[in-house]
Amino acid sequence: RELPGDPRTDLIPRQVLHACYSKVSPSAEVENPQLVAWSDSVSDLLDLDPKEFTRPDFPLIFSGASPLVGAMPYAQCYGGHQFGMWAGQLGDGRAITLGEVLNSKFERWELQLKGAGKTPYSRFADGLAVLRSSIREFLCSEAMHSLGIPTTRALCLVTTGKYVTRDMFYDGNPKDEPGAIVCRVSQSFLRFGSYQIHASREDLDLVRTLADYTIRHHFPHLEKLSKSDSVSFSTGKGDNSVVDLTSNKYAAWAVEVAERTASLVSSWQGVGFTHGVLNTDNMSVLGLTIDYGPFGFLDAFDPRYTPNTTDLPGRRYCFANQPDICLWNIAHFVTTLSTAQLINDNEANYAMERYGTKFMDEYQAIMTKKLGLPKYNKQLISKLLKNMAIDKVDYTNFFRSLSNIKADPTLLPEDELLIPLKAVLLDIGKERKDAWTSWLKSYIQELSASGISDGERKVLMDSVNPKYILRNYLCQSAIDAAEVGNFEEVRQLLKVMNCPYDDQPGMEKYARLPPAWAYRPGVGMLSCSS
Ligand code: AMP
Ligand code: MG
Ligand code: MG
Repeated sequence: RELPGDPRTDLIPRQVLHACYSKVSPSAEVENPQLVAWSDSVSDLLDLDPKEFTRPDFPLIFSGASPLVGAMPYAQCYGGHQFGMWAGQLGDGRAITLGEVLNSKFERWELQLKGAGKTPYSRFADGLAVLRSSIREFLCSEAMHSLGIPTTRALCLVTTGKYVTRDMFYDGNPKDEPGAIVCRVSQSFLRFGSYQIHASREDLDLVRTLADYTIRHHFPHLEKLSKSDSVSFSTGKGDNSVVDLTSNKYAAWAVEVAERTASLVSSWQGVGFTHGVLNTDNMSVLGLTIDYGPFGFLDAFDPRYTPNTTDLPGRRYCFANQPDICLWNIAHFVTTLSTAQLINDNEANYAMERYGTKFMDEYQAIMTKKLGLPKYNKQLISKLLKNMAIDKVDYTNFFRSLSNIKADPTLLPEDELLIPLKAVLLDIGKERKDAWTSWLKSYIQELSASGISDGERKVLMDSVNPKYILRNYLCQSAIDAAEVGNFEEVRQLLKVMNCPYDDQPGMEKYARLPPAWAYRPGVGMLSCSS
């Protein structure tokens, strides 16, 4: 019910009522756009012939300057809670979907240009994206995928050849930065906020229509549930109320969204990923990591770590808060479905309960694997995290080194126990050495009871503890080079992050602890300005 791609209204910010999207055309200005990087594995997903990347019109199409034949570009309408407050309509302020590709496996993949110009949802902003943030989104989408974490993907990175002005800099002076566009790829970019916006406007039929669409296309198995899939759930108020997921597909859907979200967050906690802006508009309904802005991976372990300057001093989105914040987001998602009368209170409560259970199950399983333990040991793990926080131990390198511990306590004199961890336990005094030795002794005791050989355990542990993660300072080095026209480092980082669990001889510098400059403003801590 929006005007079909009318160039006179495309660029006018406005409230878009009774519609899930608006047809728009990409409108970023370009001057000799260049394709600077692409992902081979995403191009495989799309059955794209590698020769396509050499076509002279490829950068024109993927910067939006030339139309993609068969595309029907649009921008989505969505809203969201930002930092806990309902923010109304947000929408795709600068992400324009080109259309969907149906691949040879009959999978649908949506292609979206981020930074391709204004849309009705641009509010006060310009609809453009800078090279710095586009490199970060491009690299991290692919790095997360290689880590085995659900995420939206990135096909390619194109520079526009034009400059974009950004003013949220630390010295307060506006700066011109090179513009760029990432082509994001996902089975869907629908977010919690895509449903919330219509419920907030009491447009409840539209919530149902969009929910039906989502289930039909992305959760088709929920339309075919059999009676044996029913579950019973006690409301906790004494009455044994049964939630039957086979009788209400929306309830089954709410539960699956909750479970996928829980599983996603547990995998973030496992690798130390901190999203930075977990607003409800940045929560994928498919349980994918979406919208890479001021994200960061933990270096020195600090549960209160947030990479986002806007998140200070509250630290709502800090590392340790992510599981609770996602539950808060799920609560708002199920409230939306309740408001639209798609699910009842019991079903909403059940979805939230499933979130909690699923998160704990998966988080415990992940931590158990990270330590190579035969079974979950709460005390051992919390003691470890406490020690790591006190000594600011590098999260990634610590777990990677831990697989070198030998499980036979009789092999070594006590003062040699810490040798495999020498490179990660830096500058610790006698007292802290004792604390670590004591922890290691209980750890080794657990390991030796497991009956798994040191070699076998190392292989298992190294397959879940990455050696290479996309630290913010690594991104920054690639950005610094790219801003003066050298994209080698972007491509090199993409390659290294493709195999994060492999040793990759010669690439050790990418596994180093961050240098002092990594803590400079704008490197470790980022703003939302992008
Ligand atoms: P985020 O905080 O990145 O999730 O963004 C919140 C909303 O602001 C989203 O709808 C974005 O599309 C929009 N937005 C962010 N930057 C821009 C921009 N440069 N131009 C238009 N919209 C933007
Ligand atoms: Mg967003
Ligand atoms: Mg963003």
